[in-house]
Amino acid sequence: MKMKLPMLGLGGSVATPRKGITAEVVIVSNEEELEALGEGARGKIVLFNNPMPPYHPVEGSGYGETVRFRLHGARLASEHGAVGVLVRSVTANSQRTPHTGVMIYGKARRKIPAAAVTIEDAEMIARLIRRGERVKVRLFMEAHREGKVPSANVVAELRGSTLPDEIVVISGHLDSWDVGQGAHDDATGCIMAIESLRLLREAGLRPRRTIRVVLWTNEENGLAGGKSYAKEHADELAQHVAAIESDSGGFDPRGFNLELEDSARHGRAMLQLQELLNLLELEESLKVKSGHSGSDIRPMKAAGVPLLGLKVEGSRYFDYHHTHADTVDKVDPGELNRCVALMAFTAYVLADMPGRLGENW
Ligand SMILES: [Zn+2]
Repeated sequence: MKMKLPMLGLGGSVATPRKGITAEVVIVSNEEELEALGEGARGKIVLFNNPMPPYHPVEGSGYGETVRFRLHGARLASEHGAVGVLVRSVTANSQRTPHTGVMIYGKARRKIPAAAVTIEDAEMIARLIRRGERVKVRLFMEAHREGKVPSANVVAELRGSTLPDEIVVISGHLDSWDVGQGAHDDATGCIMAIESLRLLREAGLRPRRTIRVVLWTNEENGLAGGKSYAKEHADELAQHVAAIESDSGGFDPRGFNLELEDSARHGRAMLQLQELLNLLELEESLKVKSGHSGSDIRPMKAAGVPLLGLKVEGSRYFDYHHTHADTVDKVDPGELNRCVALMAFTAYVLADMPGRLGENW
């Protein structure tokens, strides 16, 4: 029996030869099972079938612990002599939608092609193999690199009235994978930043400090936008009062994750931000937590800039993330509006309050 498998090449993968690769599939759920296979992976296509756990209201998504197979699966499989690698899409829910995303060869001696298959097909292949069937896959990929080209962050400002050199950055990333529209990843983040600035202007509100919108380029494929901003603006970073990024989707807001190098400042900033959030009367109370802020603003961390990641209700994000399904119809305008309100409000207060976030005043 023959059937077609919906798939997506992973970002950074090499192509297959023109005729494709046809090989038997061996299935493993983690690194230990691959080790145990020993020579059993030689000449085969390795399928990493590691399920991402369902979303947990407190623990969040299991993306962090599951994405490693997408990132490093090709290197691991190639060390065992595999000729290609398939990765179960990193999501807990699927409508037979494959999920792409970046992969890394790192120190791999051989680069083998890497693609994602759907949960449904990973499970089907697993069932067939358990039943003792031999499963062969023909993998065909035309992936290629076109080299580096110039690209730019998009920057706009509402200049501060009395402290224009002090800056609050609000941001999202402008690029997305080549499937779907990148609606939740990360058009909604860009819209939050743009709309925040527009609303403040429309309301005639001009804070003491400058609010700077930055739409980052190249988040998904190397972070060049975030890294070059931190480098080009290095002498200005001491004047960055805060940098806010939204890169978790445009769902109902839940608050912020804070990252700040200095622990005393971190503690004070946590309390100040929570007080600020308590002023907003949304249906769900907003919380400040310590944790990952955003990958584009992170290069500013070493300079001591307080980094805020806008966090949202996360149960649906990875249903769409990096797939053809990440389209604008998945964005609820009410939820997005509440995110805009949170970003605009926070940016305004941080830009206008007498002292700086995290300082004693
Ligand atoms: Zn993103």
